[in-house]
Amino acid sequence: MQTRVSTGRGAQSGAGQPPSPVTLPPVIVVHDLAALLRVTPIDVMKALIRNGIMAAVNQTIDYAAASLVAGEMGFIPEAEKAAPSGAAPGMRAREEEGLAQPRPPVVTIMGHVDHGKTSLLDYIRRTSVAAGEVGGITQRIGAYQVEVNGERVTFIDTPGHEAFTAMRARGAQATDIAVLVVAADDGLMPQSIEAIDHARAAGVPILVAINKIDRAEANPDRVKQQLTEHNLLVEEYGGDTICVPVSARTGEGVEELLSNIVALAEVSELRANPNQPARGVVLESELDKTRGPMATVLVRTGTVKVGDYVVAGASWGKVRALFDDRGRRVDAAGPSMPVKLMGLGRVPEPGDVLQAVPDETRARALVAEKASAGPGVTLENLSAQIQAGETKDLNLIIKADFQGSIDAIRNALQRVALANVRANVIHAAAGSVTESDVLLAAASDAIIIGFNTRSEPGALRVAEREKVEVRFYQIIYELVEDVERSLRGLLEPTTREVVEGRAEVRQLFGIKGGNVAGSWVRDGRILRGALARLLRGGRVVFESRVSSLRHFREDVREMTAGFECGIVLEGYSDYREGDIIETYRRERVEQ
Ligand code: GDP
Repeated sequence: MQTRVSTGRGAQSGAGQPPSPVTLPPVIVVHDLAALLRVTPIDVMKALIRNGIMAAVNQTIDYAAASLVAGEMGFIPEAEKAAPSGAAPGMRAREEEGLAQPRPPVVTIMGHVDHGKTSLLDYIRRTSVAAGEVGGITQRIGAYQVEVNGERVTFIDTPGHEAFTAMRARGAQATDIAVLVVAADDGLMPQSIEAIDHARAAGVPILVAINKIDRAEANPDRVKQQLTEHNLLVEEYGGDTICVPVSARTGEGVEELLSNIVALAEVSELRANPNQPARGVVLESELDKTRGPMATVLVRTGTVKVGDYVVAGASWGKVRALFDDRGRRVDAAGPSMPVKLMGLGRVPEPGDVLQAVPDETRARALVAEKASAGPGVTLENLSAQIQAGETKDLNLIIKADFQGSIDAIRNALQRVALANVRANVIHAAAGSVTESDVLLAAASDAIIIGFNTRSEPGALRVAEREKVEVRFYQIIYELVEDVERSLRGLLEPTTREVVEGRAEVRQLFGIKGGNVAGSWVRDGRILRGALARLLRGGRVVFESRVSSLRHFREDVREMTAGFECGIVLEGYSDYREGDIIETYRRERVEQ
């Protein structure tokens, strides 16, 4: 186990308002959505980009995209009731275009080494080939699709949870269902348990395949009992975990396994909108001598087409050709379909997110933006983490305002290494704390340190779900002191920070001796006298407290969400439109 520090003086953030419902139409223009959610269009666009969707202020997005944004902003999205039956058919069709449709499930096979993951994948691939189909699935492209009673199912062809976690750590979850393979003659082993934990951490439902039942030593009942010890209750034990005995050698039970996957997918109501620019995950990549960089992409939403401009990690290009899992040329690939894509300028990395963009200019801009965000987490350092196993390193992810701060923090941390434990920075970059940082932290038992920076709204929610600690500091020595104390196991929780409200600066008013920030309270409440910080472009530019709070001409003690007010921060007057004033309080934390 790695060391985990609890709350400390750097403080934790993340007070939330209780979510309120918001009704969204099947399609909505970005600025209308912003108005509906009482945020700026920029906020909406940022949230969309985080979800891999590029949209301009006056562009229309669908319900699926809008509900993602609404969710991030703390609302509970609800679909508007269907149009009355009298609506013009054309309008109906247009609306439906914007809607998510059922899509095939994406399945990853996990389990302990030698329990038969590869054999099972091979068996399914071999037997799924329709009679008379020439060639069949001849080449592995990293994933393949089979048909079960007319329903398609996508299998990721790389067994094991390491790849799965690496993808997640890079912010790309490609799996909907995890099949845990447990050999009936061997029972639950360490990697089986790890796989359960990883799938759980990802919130992916687990279906158990008890394999090798053809063996004389097979003891499926023992496996079922062991599963209960890890909270996977099968029917016999009063639970609802689906558990299917199979043999990857004889094929016994495999059909039943497949039908159960389809059934589980149905209750999971997996949906995606095929009628939008594609977003997907790179599963594999290679440099082909004749065809150039090739990437196997699993499409998650939208449809990728020949001729599309796409960006994948640090690479971009125009799709010149697409090949399906049988090596056939296809013109397009929709949700859950794996395709080999030709046309990228460079070989992307597995786990990179692929997204279609409107044109070359956008493609270049997006790549440049990503490059300036610093290098991504590589598979190498992640697997090193996993292999490290028993080390007592304190894994850290550092996000800071500037690269210079990161270097200073790294240097300072180097000096606190103790005999057998050390602070291990697994990722450091300039910028705010993102969802992808949180996933990496979750995947590698790390804590996140934000230095003079904040978190994206979605990130804290994920941090809460993944139980990842995010600490914020403004002073390096406090940060280093906390790390040192946690390495010595001495860190005592003291206080934590609770965000009370946020206001957006919309207009400046000059007064004698400075400026007043004419603001609109976006969420929570602003209290006179509260501790406050001024954020510009996600960075903390000033910290003090609210020295004056006015509603029209009146001095007030408190202003709640939805109201306009004039705010003055003690010792500051250089406000700009678009600045965010965040107020917070410190709470003592029970030890
Ligand atoms: P993986 O490491 O989980 O991918 O396991 P493999 O698929 O490589 O299988 C490990 C060994 O178990 C191989 O020798 C397989 O032939 C054997 N094996 C896999 N499935 C079965 C099965 O259902 N029955 C029997 N008897 N052997 C199996």
